[in-house]
Amino acid sequence: MHREIYVLVEHLRGQVAEISYVMLAAARELARGTGGPVVALLLGHDAQALAKDLAADRVLYVDHPALAEFTPDAYRQVLAELMEKEPPRALLLGETSIGADLAGRLSAQLGLPLVSYCRTLRADDGALTFVSQICGGRLMAEGELPAPTALVTMIPGGFKPEQGQSAHPPELVSVPAPALEGLRITLKQYIEPEEEDVDIAKAPILVAVGRGIQNQDNLPLAEALAEALGGVVCASRPVVDQGWLPTTRLVGKSGKRVRPKVYLALGISGAPEHVQGITDSEVIIAVNTDPAAPIFNVARYGAVVDLFDLVPVLTEKVRQARSTPALAAA
Ligand SMILES: Cc1cc2nc3c(=O)[nH]c(=O)nc-3n(C[C@H](O)[C@H](O)[C@H](O)COP(=O)(O)OP(=O)(O)OC[C@H]3O[C@@H](n4cnc5c(N)ncnc54)[C@H](O)[C@@H]3O)c2cc1C
Repeated sequence: MHREIYVLVEHLRGQVAEISYVMLAAARELARGTGGPVVALLLGHDAQALAKDLAADRVLYVDHPALAEFTPDAYRQVLAELMEKEPPRALLLGETSIGADLAGRLSAQLGLPLVSYCRTLRADDGALTFVSQICGGRLMAEGELPAPTALVTMIPGGFKPEQGQSAHPPELVSVPAPALEGLRITLKQYIEPEEEDVDIAKAPILVAVGRGIQNQDNLPLAEALAEALGGVVCASRPVVDQGWLPTTRLVGKSGKRVRPKVYLALGISGAPEHVQGITDSEVIIAVNTDPAAPIFNVARYGAVVDLFDLVPVLTEKVRQARSTPALAAA
């Protein structure tokens, strides 16, 4: 039985992505069950400094100019070689554009089972179990990790990133890169995002609108509420895809990860790609006409109500409260 738990460390422009720490925390839990080490796989160029706070027993570091930036071709070749040389019990990848891209390719190439959208991994009485959020977050699937080796893609929420960080640098082992010839994909250039208007990642109060807002003409309703609350409007992907708000306001997998004190979700279903951007919010409040909407699974408070009935009344109440000195100070 293989005992190592591998974690692919995702990094971008000199920074380790938060999901990497979440996966290391999950890997520590699995390693409790296998009795083996947690091994971080760090691929890059002059990137060994990124290993310093990884909560791993060992870091396998592969350095090559072609690995300076992520490309699926080069990463897949390196990972496949590492996996074949010393197969682990599991390889954890982020359910991110990087991890999801690699996981399918590796699964097909190595003939390994893939468990995706994992939120929680546990080691119980020798069994390694997972909870996976499937069908757009409507179902939580539980099962045992297939043996002898499983590929896993993880979403945040089940483990805190701090649990995957360590004050003691791990052992760093340099592994020679394979030939990496005939790469069909290379990075040409980075296109910087547009100038920020407001940084939603730093806003303490967010009023988020989803497809339930119906059209751009209804946005002022949410803006008025945000203004009354002293907050900022952000959105789910359909709203941004329609061009009703700029991409700087997008929350989720392809947008920003936010951590406000209050996240008020108006007409948002709670798809995993959206939810993964909001799980660090202190309080999530969901407003949705569908009582079965998955957003209610992550919300502390929820109201099954038409947002068009609620928002104007709520805005008025907040304004009144703010203009009452005793309440405004509270
Ligand atoms: C690779 C990939 C990346 C993605 N990245 C992101 C991302 O970063 N961010 C993101 O948000 N999505 C992302 N998505 C899309 C995601 O899967 C969902 O499609 C999207 O989040 C759904 O947005 P929504 O909840 O606004 O719309 P819907 O799922 O259509 O939900 C609308 C909700 O509004 C409710 N509603 C309708 N009318 C009202 C009303 N009058 N009052 C109250 N409630 C009402 C409905 O009941 C429903 O629950 C990504 C998808 C993929 C495949």
